[in-house]
Amino acid sequence: MINRCINIKLPDERHPISSITDVQSPLFTLDAAALKAAGLFKGKLQKAPAAMSTVMIRKAAYNEEVLRPIVFEMLESNEGPTIDTGDRVLIKPNFLAPAAPEKALTTHPLLLKAAAEFALANGARVQISDSPAMGSFSKLWKKGGYEEILKGLDVTVKPFEETIAVDVGEPFGSIDIAKDAMEADVVINLAKLKTHTQMMLTLGVKNLFGSIVGLKKPEWHMRTGVDRQMFGRLIVSIFQAVGPAYTILDGILAMEGQGPGRSGTPRELGLLMGGKNAHAVDHVACLQVGLDPDTLETHRNAREMGVYDGRVHINGDLKILDDFQFPELGSLTMGPDYMGRFMRRFVIQQPVADNKACKLCGECWKYCPAKAISYTDRGISFNTDTCIRCYCCLEVCPHAAIRAKKPIAGRVVAWLTKNR
Ligand code: SF4
Ligand code: SF4
Repeated sequence: MINRCINIKLPDERHPISSITDVQSPLFTLDAAALKAAGLFKGKLQKAPAAMSTVMIRKAAYNEEVLRPIVFEMLESNEGPTIDTGDRVLIKPNFLAPAAPEKALTTHPLLLKAAAEFALANGARVQISDSPAMGSFSKLWKKGGYEEILKGLDVTVKPFEETIAVDVGEPFGSIDIAKDAMEADVVINLAKLKTHTQMMLTLGVKNLFGSIVGLKKPEWHMRTGVDRQMFGRLIVSIFQAVGPAYTILDGILAMEGQGPGRSGTPRELGLLMGGKNAHAVDHVACLQVGLDPDTLETHRNAREMGVYDGRVHINGDLKILDDFQFPELGSLTMGPDYMGRFMRRFVIQQPVADNKACKLCGECWKYCPAKAISYTDRGISFNTDTCIRCYCCLEVCPHAAIRAKKPIAGRVVAWLTKNR
């Protein structure tokens, strides 16, 4: 692995993160804590200890002759994944929705191809899977150019379908995560650098939220929907459970503005970033686009949860942007407000009471964080508009008098999703 110098634009008076001082030294490190303490990106540079996460930044383009050697360099580096002959390697791209590559909604097919070729060259059995938030997987595979570009490669291509319950710890407990992601020997995470109107940016860590299958995604949005910090924690918990071996962030054609979907604006950055530690990759990506990393809930939560210490060694050239367009943050529920209300009322499973079993002990309404439970001497009832679907009432009821029930529309949508 070659450690090149890093070129960091230090702050000037007009722009907190721009100026033209290039620091040239073979091994320098950005210390996030120092950056934060000193003000936005007024960072301190220090030598990198050996155990520190390394993030590689490379100039790249959607050209096979350029891209392939860079991807191989990243995956062959000291922090690249260990792949043994016969290993099941799962490649997890960002497959948000069916869209042509130039829309920047999805990880570029040439990046998938290079990663798949690397895994195949190491004797792996390769699978490419995701659970698109919108549209069908087969349509996405065609429209995104994957079918054409990956033609002839010996890889299994299929959407995530089966799940297994994984205990991710407090406060979420058991979460259904794609079985293929949990059972792969090696997961290679191929994320897209995009803005996100709910979480500011979607990068490497957030990409693993795609291993929540189908309608469970909006359901989790609903369950954590009143609290962005909680949603960040959920994403980090899912990420840690899957534990990808390596993350490459496709920032060649990134997205700015009102991402991550069609309202966002493609922005050519011409960059790939890669590292074993996706938290470190996200950290550097934030610096790259001129964002205080602690603005990102996934980053802040990872630090609070103790899964990332904020120290990163950058291998490559970091040229901080001062004109990247960030989104206006909106609601955590997907789509417009009326869609959120619709999903909540008619699609997402709701708590329902068995008032014959209810002893009116009061545990549920005392615990309910949304104060969505009322009672009379005939039993309890739920306000489905204010209930945030945390399902805590199910857990605290000592008489098993509450269960979660999917409304009819939700059952129909689930059936259609499963059978499309
Ligand atoms: S009614 Fe139950 S599921 Fe709804 S917010 Fe209250 S505790 Fe959570
Ligand atoms: S906790 Fe259970 S038994 Fe107690 S009031 Fe609520 S539903 Fe009834």
